[in-house]
Amino acid sequence: MRDGTIVVAGASLAGLRGAEALRRGGFSGRLILVGDEPHLPYDRPPLSKHVLTGEVAAGATTLPGVGALDAEWRLGTPAAGLDRAGRSLLLADGTRLPFDRLLIATGARARPWPQADEARLAGVHTLRGRDDAAVLAAGLGARPGRVLILGAGFIGGEVASSIRALGLPVTVVDPEPAPLARALGSVLGGFMAGRMEASGVDLRPGTRVARLEGDEAGRVRRAHLAEGGTIEADLVVVALGAVRNTGWLAGSGLSADEGGLSCDGACRVLDEAGWPDDAIFAAGDVARFPHPLYGGRPVALEHWGNAVAQGAHAARAMLDGPDAAGAYAELPAFWSSQFGLNIKSLGLLEGADAMVIVQGDPGTGRFLAVYGHEGRTIAAVAVNAGRWLPAYEAPIREGAPFPPITGGADQPAPAPFPPGLPSMQAA
Ligand SMILES: Cc1cc2nc3c(=O)[nH]c(=O)nc-3n(C[C@H](O)[C@H](O)[C@H](O)COP(=O)(O)OP(=O)(O)OC[C@H]3O[C@@H](n4cnc5c(N)ncnc54)[C@H](O)[C@@H]3O)c2cc1C
Repeated sequence: MRDGTIVVAGASLAGLRGAEALRRGGFSGRLILVGDEPHLPYDRPPLSKHVLTGEVAAGATTLPGVGALDAEWRLGTPAAGLDRAGRSLLLADGTRLPFDRLLIATGARARPWPQADEARLAGVHTLRGRDDAAVLAAGLGARPGRVLILGAGFIGGEVASSIRALGLPVTVVDPEPAPLARALGSVLGGFMAGRMEASGVDLRPGTRVARLEGDEAGRVRRAHLAEGGTIEADLVVVALGAVRNTGWLAGSGLSADEGGLSCDGACRVLDEAGWPDDAIFAAGDVARFPHPLYGGRPVALEHWGNAVAQGAHAARAMLDGPDAAGAYAELPAFWSSQFGLNIKSLGLLEGADAMVIVQGDPGTGRFLAVYGHEGRTIAAVAVNAGRWLPAYEAPIREGAPFPPITGGADQPAPAPFPPGLPSMQAA
């Protein structure tokens, strides 16, 4: 298909890169991008890093390539429903947009603090979009006496790092035994904990906040801990992960929930009975797809590189058909910068039962860890050692024997040990 109308729901990274791939692939028809935010597509990774430290303005994050796209933009107008039989996207302002093909790239949003009245207190923030970052940066600019971050995942860690860079006191609480423990395991989590504490973070692992308390003016003042006790705070960042933006698809008959919108290897969305819809595709954070490298297990990623690659893959499947596009098999890759560390990962760590440090040494702050599952290599994480990572791409793709053979015959092989990851059932 090279003409007709293609509508993209979600005008951010996956939507933009998908639209660009459509044009590159020769699509000459009408291209419409629908976004609920009033902004042209922008980049999110700087929001928790350089935007909070004041090095980059929130408004200076617009993605390159936006201007060159020959497209119609419907910004500030959410998609509110999908009429699959009528092949139309329904917008919140009542507009009906007929399409020949639809790309769903509505991403994810920050998981809110569960008590809505407490989440509304002044000084309680989440961070997902450019506007969130601008408001949070302004709040930090007022030099709050103590900042509290709920959640020690990637976003919580990056925000804590930025706040320390501003010289502000910050406490980080998380029910897990160490920061990033769910993502990287408690061994790397322990390394991160040392870094955070050395940077002046008041880290409280194994701690759960039960409720937030505000003052008479409606401004947050303290958090009450489930274990008893309080933490004073006049700015709180809720960093409890993300939920997929699929609520607008209710009643469409598609297989979707807060964990993602199910699709097949060619990015075609699946209906509730598991059948693919040939006209509707999904890409980016919103998509839950079977990953061939992990036994076809459905995965939903929150990775910048996945949004780019899957947007392009969906475009190919839209133009040339699912068989020509083949199964999407991009190796998951992620990076994070915090506390002077550049963390890069390849592959999925879920289910890893062993890890081994193959290069470098955590004591020096520069090392590379490889993860295995039942004797096969499944993932690798580099800390300040990104240049070593590409060598492990092929072993991960091939599921090479774990532990990998490193060093010479006269050197003892490094010994594997448990990474401290949650079991697959608990993950
Ligand atoms: C603060 C932050 C830092 C990050 N840092 C890193 C990093 O260092 N490394 C990394 O690999 N990844 C990072 N990520 C993740 C990365 O940014 C995401 O994986 C990427 O943005 C996903 O792109 P997407 O287009 O699929 O979804 P999104 O970027 O979430 O875009 C979806 C768009 O759709 C819009 N939308 C939602 N519902 C509707 C609707 N009903 N109608 C119309 N539009 C709708 C949303 O508002 C949004 O504009 C970070 C994310 C955040 C939030």
